Amino acid sequence: MKTRLRQSQEWVFDLDNTLYPPESDVFFQIDQRMTLYVAQLLGLPPQEARKKQKAWYAQHGTTLSGLMAEHHVDPGQYLDFVHDIDLSALSMDLALREAIAALPGRKIVFTNGSRNHARRVTAARGLDGVFDTIVGIEDTGFAPKPHPDAYDYLLKTLKINPHRAAFIEDMERNLKPAHSLGFVTILVHSDKDWSHEPEGARPAAAGDRHDHVHFTTGDLTGFLQQAIKPETQ
Ligand SMILES: [Mg+2]
Repeated sequence: MKTRLRQSQEWVFDLDNTLYPPESDVFFQIDQRMTLYVAQLLGLPPQEARKKQKAWYAQHGTTLSGLMAEHHVDPGQYLDFVHDIDLSALSMDLALREAIAALPGRKIVFTNGSRNHARRVTAARGLDGVFDTIVGIEDTGFAPKPHPDAYDYLLKTLKINPHRAAFIEDMERNLKPAHSLGFVTILVHSDKDWSHEPEGARPAAAGDRHDHVHFTTGDLTGFLQQAIKPETQ
């Protein structure tokens, strides 16, 4: 699997909590905006809105999918609202930039957030220009990971051969379809406590092991640097 990783020609990266540290609490802000959106739309107190939000997230992959299925919301307006956040906690990461730029072949961002959010975040991290393509949720017709339609779109539109490709994520459930399709799968974990998220839909913690995960790392930059080093023996 190490050889397959090294020979990958396509590198698919998740965005939120993968290309920036979860400790920055950027995703926390989005999460709060989602709760606020649901509360305002349905006229619910925050705690009730949050329950609905998390149930949709667990069941549909994103809160947006639940809102579209049950309340026919305008996805563009929703995405603008939830991504209207302060990114000042994010800092440039030149080491990560160099590690991604040094990978052979295409580098792709594949996110359940909007394209515009991905552009803002990658710019704030100093990663603008290192990715060949950004695939946002609006590109897949709002089908989110882990729904198979999202992966179908990715493979067909970008003509990716998953047997020569790596998939990098902080959510183990999003690696399941990637693994079935033939990607090398890499789970990025942190020390942050995610116990408030629904079981089975939480970002990874250190020590997590899954049959559909080939590699786990708490240090994405170091992992990518090692990944393309020639085998010593
Ligand atoms: Mg993520």
